[in-house]
Amino acid sequence: MPDPIFYHSIKVDEKKCIGCVVCMKVCPTKAIRIKEKKAVVNAERCIDCGECYRACPYGAITPLTTKTSDITRFKIKVALPSPVLYSQFGSNVMPDQILNALKEIGFDYVYDEALACEMISIAIEEYLERNKSPRPIISSTCPVVVRLIQRLFPSLVSLIIRMEPPREIAAKNLKRELSKEHKISEQDIGIFHITSCPAKMVSINKPETMEKSYLDGAISIKEIYNQLMAQLKRKEHNFILQTQSQASGIGIGWAISGGEIRGIKQDASVSVSGVYDTIRILSDVESGKIKNIEYLECLICPDGCIGGPLTVENRFLAKSHILKLIRKFGGKNRIDISYVKQLYEKNFFSFERNIQPKPFSPLDPDKNEAIRKLKKKERILKNLPGINCGVCGAPDCESFAEDLAKGEKDLTIGRCVFLGE
Ligand code: SF4
Ligand code: SF4
Repeated sequence: MPDPIFYHSIKVDEKKCIGCVVCMKVCPTKAIRIKEKKAVVNAERCIDCGECYRACPYGAITPLTTKTSDITRFKIKVALPSPVLYSQFGSNVMPDQILNALKEIGFDYVYDEALACEMISIAIEEYLERNKSPRPIISSTCPVVVRLIQRLFPSLVSLIIRMEPPREIAAKNLKRELSKEHKISEQDIGIFHITSCPAKMVSINKPETMEKSYLDGAISIKEIYNQLMAQLKRKEHNFILQTQSQASGIGIGWAISGGEIRGIKQDASVSVSGVYDTIRILSDVESGKIKNIEYLECLICPDGCIGGPLTVENRFLAKSHILKLIRKFGGKNRIDISYVKQLYEKNFFSFERNIQPKPFSPLDPDKNEAIRKLKKKERILKNLPGINCGVCGAPDCESFAEDLAKGEKDLTIGRCVFLGE
């Protein structure tokens, strides 16, 4: 059934999938079932975390990002690289070299997203200052965390900061400025995020907080890597290394977990990364166990965006490169704070519309029927062995009992190998 609520960023290639259950077992929201030896993703449950993509040993899960050939439909093509890109080519390759290489592979303009990150750091401080309670305020940067909250922690939706992430703010600014400068329509300007994360496509194609995203696509670092490397090698001997004017440690730091809170200089802030740790801290916030936190940065990938599934460099080396760049470029703001405050006053950073809670549907839309199915599920569960082996095609006995209680087509209790057909 097509997903009425969410657009998704991955798809299963049925030719490559052998139904090995690896993806089903790692999925944190139990969105995957194995049917006729193929993985099937339940669109309603999927939050686009990419865990299945990371885990599939057969390359059967494909991210749905923008192809580089797609950029040609725009008169002006702009690359907006995530600071993660600076960690991908070794510690001696400087941001300026990478920005130049992007230009040489076909972009008319290249804008350093780290600059927008730094701007948002200032805007977050302003937001925290002006919005006194409740706490903790939760970052809106990671689109998967936003979905996770909508689905599993709907009561926390109101805590998400009502501010667009840096990629959207940068794109909004660029569209306006370039359209004025070149006297062309904003529609003729294509802005592409260069990303480590397939879920960015989700926030571009189906944004939660605005009618239409200011970005026109997201190109995977993996896809563009070889072209960039070829350019960087060509320039190796004649490029003057680093210019401090192009980067600051504050913005670059957003590539790793803790980077966002490092920029806002708020003592009572916490950063968490990885899907399971994120679920754990959000559960603690929901239950009231966690108190006295001002700001909570959660990123779904391990160690933050440098752990995104569309990267090339080893995550630990990438982190070390980013830390080196942070040290090199320092923690001094290069953005005019009063300018950011002026933009803040004009609501430049704010959501156009609020994020809505989207909890998972009950077992049945009819309340009485839902209770009947819940009782049926409990009865079935009592008869199952509780081994959670996944051979039935569901991730655990509870999910199998739920699918049976819902009356899933062609599913019988005999699918459990311990009970037999
Ligand atoms: S991990 Fe999932 S998608 Fe990949 S082969 Fe196994 S069942 Fe298929
Ligand atoms: S992207 Fe995440 S939530 Fe969606 S199916 Fe894969 S593992 Fe499950």
